[in-house]
Amino acid sequence: EEKKEDGKTVVHKKTDCQPAVFIPVDRRPEIQEARLKLPVLAEEQVIMEAVKENDCVVLCGETGSGKTTQVPQFLYEAGYASAGGMIGVTEPRRVAAVSMSHRVANEMNLSTGVVSYQIRYEGNVTKDTAIKFMTDGVLLKEIQKDFLLQKYSVIIIDEAHERSLYTDILIGLLSRIVALRNKKGLPMKLLIMSATLRVEDFTENKKLFRTPPPVIKVEARQFPVTVHFNKRTPMEDYVAEAFRKTCKIHRMLPPGGILVFLTGQAEVNYVCRRLRKAFPYRPNNIQHTAEDTSEELRKFKKQKLKKSVSLPRIDLDNYSALPVDEGDEDRQAGIDDDDEGSDLDLGDQPDDTGEKADPTIPLYVLPLYSLLAPEQQARVFRPPPPGARLCVVATNVAETSLTIPAIKYVVDCGRVKKRFYDRVTGVSSFKVNWTSQASANQRAGRAGRTEAGHCYRLYSSAVFSDFSQFSEAEITRRPVDDLVLQMKDLNIEKVVNFPFPTPPSSEALVSAEQLLISLGALEEPPRQGRMVDMERARLSCPITPLGRAMAAFPVAPRYAKMLALGCQQGCMPYIITVVAAMTVREIFVELDRPASSEEESSKLAGRKARFSQMKRLWAGQGQSLLLGDLMVMLGAVGACEFAGCTPNFCEENGLRYKAMLEIRRLRGQLTNAVNSVCSDAGVCVDNKMAPPTESQVVCLRQIVLAGLGDHLARRVQAEELLDPKWRNGYKTPLLDEPVFIHPSSALHKELPEFVVYQEIMETTKMYMRGVCAVQADWIPKLLPQYCHFSGPEQSPAPWYCTLSGNVKCQQQSTFFRVGWKLPAIEM
Ligand code: ADP
Ligand code: MG
Repeated sequence: EEKKEDGKTVVHKKTDCQPAVFIPVDRRPEIQEARLKLPVLAEEQVIMEAVKENDCVVLCGETGSGKTTQVPQFLYEAGYASAGGMIGVTEPRRVAAVSMSHRVANEMNLSTGVVSYQIRYEGNVTKDTAIKFMTDGVLLKEIQKDFLLQKYSVIIIDEAHERSLYTDILIGLLSRIVALRNKKGLPMKLLIMSATLRVEDFTENKKLFRTPPPVIKVEARQFPVTVHFNKRTPMEDYVAEAFRKTCKIHRMLPPGGILVFLTGQAEVNYVCRRLRKAFPYRPNNIQHTAEDTSEELRKFKKQKLKKSVSLPRIDLDNYSALPVDEGDEDRQAGIDDDDEGSDLDLGDQPDDTGEKADPTIPLYVLPLYSLLAPEQQARVFRPPPPGARLCVVATNVAETSLTIPAIKYVVDCGRVKKRFYDRVTGVSSFKVNWTSQASANQRAGRAGRTEAGHCYRLYSSAVFSDFSQFSEAEITRRPVDDLVLQMKDLNIEKVVNFPFPTPPSSEALVSAEQLLISLGALEEPPRQGRMVDMERARLSCPITPLGRAMAAFPVAPRYAKMLALGCQQGCMPYIITVVAAMTVREIFVELDRPASSEEESSKLAGRKARFSQMKRLWAGQGQSLLLGDLMVMLGAVGACEFAGCTPNFCEENGLRYKAMLEIRRLRGQLTNAVNSVCSDAGVCVDNKMAPPTESQVVCLRQIVLAGLGDHLARRVQAEELLDPKWRNGYKTPLLDEPVFIHPSSALHKELPEFVVYQEIMETTKMYMRGVCAVQADWIPKLLPQYCHFSGPEQSPAPWYCTLSGNVKCQQQSTFFRVGWKLPAIEM
């Protein structure tokens, strides 16, 4: 029984005082019992007193100690949600926001209308919402609408240790908002929650908090985890190594869940598939009880011995079943043992050679990554079927955001996949890299939550000692143009002076401001005057009306510029669709996985052929082909919507169903944003649209050029071809290396003279993705800021200045209400 008084909490103690503010929560007994085991419960009083006494409190506690699920409940019970504001909780990942809101609603026996979530495209917030889980980006948008965040009485910033970009910015902004609210007599509280003790960036930063906020540490009950290093570090085949190690653990070690850390969805699916093949599960038409397991297994093994018997499909709770074939090279691979077996503490167990290896208990394999459908994600929290061993193959999501119960063994590949940007050229690439010591230790910790556990690291201790101690804050690793625009829109002109927990580099800030100036979102700094004044003006350019319009669109500034230009010739629905498709990314299914049998490989080849045929169809011909990959996106979305956007259509035509749904939602959201920035834009939300006309396609290409102007590339001319490596290559202003049109691009064969691209990805070569052809004579019209105008007699003339003689210009027209001039567009 709990009683509370005026924000203070007395747990399990009867007191004489009647609670003044105490919102009772009616939890089910089994929930209450489970809560009491969570370490954070022991600190409830300390936490609530600190919150009462301070504007900002930092709470550190191991993953799984109950921070995310319990602290919002403490605040609710203490009356923070009834004081005329909500309790807001931000998460860096959508998965966590959704799944935690469900969990807390369930624990509190409240409806999802009271404990709700809001992520970019969806949410279930009602007027009764008391606790709102959201992604950090959602709260940032809300700050733009109401700087004081008057809807909230407390904001909890969860997972602050992840140092995600928006989380960092939110902490900077909230440090000011909280002070402002208190000054205005509208008190507000800020709670920063971290899974590591490394919080000095928040507490010791004088720019952020003049008096350091108190730090409360939750002592977690952690069982010892024995860490086993590999003797050697496998270089490339850590995926195969993870598979092998998991097989070995399952065959030889006592019961207990296995959690495998890999770096991406493809790896996770691949290992799941191989594990399911290596340890096929029983058919689902048998009701399992604890007793029948062994009997069933015996039957099952007998069946297996008869090689000719083909097993029925497995369907366990939608356990994505593969036809089980006995051909099993995978299995062989699995047991062709590692050459350093002794690092698994297997005592005197006989070394496994394969033939006799039949699992004595079934393995229940589940994938976990952020793009997985929510109902599939939720399965990891449920106990495995009786008698089976749970094995979750996961990406980084399982590191701190979600705690999977009953894990005893962790297999850690030691790597993490991150997007890397080249600050100067803007080239990005996904790179699998070593993780940090802090995150490797987090991963190991997952094994000791319910009993003593083991962590198998697929790398040597020497490599581990070379890991960086902590992961870098995201803000130092990526371009910040979107962020700078949002901050300018909040009238934070001098972004350099913002109290960032870790400030971005000044090069990153300078290049962001430059991009925004060239897009017309910021005023140009004076080109003359005293050096110091110019220097000062350079990093504090005020936002323009166009910039404000752009900031209202929840997309990157380059795309926002396209939306701001989209209101001509009825192009807006198409621009919205193209921008949505570029923002959602990865809309096409990549068939890059290796086939595990001949049959599968011919099936794969058939699918690949069909997918590229569809892409050619969507790209069309003539003008529309010149819109290139953006036309393919437009065609794909159009065709998919026309077919009712069914999973079936997507599956057959190589589209990612989830991406299509996201595009639909984003289209709706962008349409609303366009209509609200410009009340007479009058764009309707209609999922189905006719293909654009030829002249609309011309207009679309020009709009795309205006947005992607700094991503212009020119094909290398025959006379410039000094080095064969430049064959079919393109020149860009910032790179010395050639860039290429990707073979999967619609323009791969066309090789237009000028193109703009969505991004350059470095894989085997520098490849442009999202390519669209543009016409040379549009460039000086639409992008004078990038052109050096020189007379024809001057030579060599800059390459992108091909002014052709007679370009007709449309009259300058006024865009939107904000009075920004549309550049003259040639038709
Ligand atoms: P922290 O935020 O400190 O990492 P959490 O509050 O997320 O901890 O988790 C506390 C406990 O709640 C963990 O034991 C976790 O397994 C459990 N839990 C979280 N979500 C669910 C769920 N959906 N179903 C069952 N248990 C859950
Ligand atoms: Mg948490």
